[in-house]
Amino acid sequence: MAFCSNCGKEIPEGANVCPDCGTAVVSAPVAVVDPWDHTSEFDAKDISDNKVYALSAYVFSILGVILCHVLAKESPYAQFHAREALKIDLVSIVVYLISAFFCWTCIVPVVGAVLILILLVVNVIAFVQVCKGQAKEPWLIRSIGALH
Ligand SMILES: [Zn+2]
Repeated sequence: MAFCSNCGKEIPEGANVCPDCGTAVVSAPVAVVDPWDHTSEFDAKDISDNKVYALSAYVFSILGVILCHVLAKESPYAQFHAREALKIDLVSIVVYLISAFFCWTCIVPVVGAVLILILLVVNVIAFVQVCKGQAKEPWLIRSIGALH
């Protein structure tokens, strides 16, 4: 149900002008919402101030994540990326362990190596995203919600 931007009265479906005051009905722009994009939830100042911590989480993996928790614990933006980076790190560790454990098979280490490469790409994409001041949940690991 739409409401008039001028007088606030209800506007019937399909009407182009408000029946009450005659104001043209401006339909709300259809925003393309990316459910994984949380950029708008963060403060612009927070993003610019703590970008470097968010970046370090992706560059120094676990060490960077710890750095974020110690030096930027007041920053929701840094915390968001620390969490996402930690997910990438944990998935990488699990892949390494499984590959090592099944190294006597041919297929598991190969699949593991491919997965590690993909995770590396996901990490790089996340890094570039932080450079742009965005906060999107990286692909592949976005379905892992346990750490939220
Ligand atoms: Zn009106």
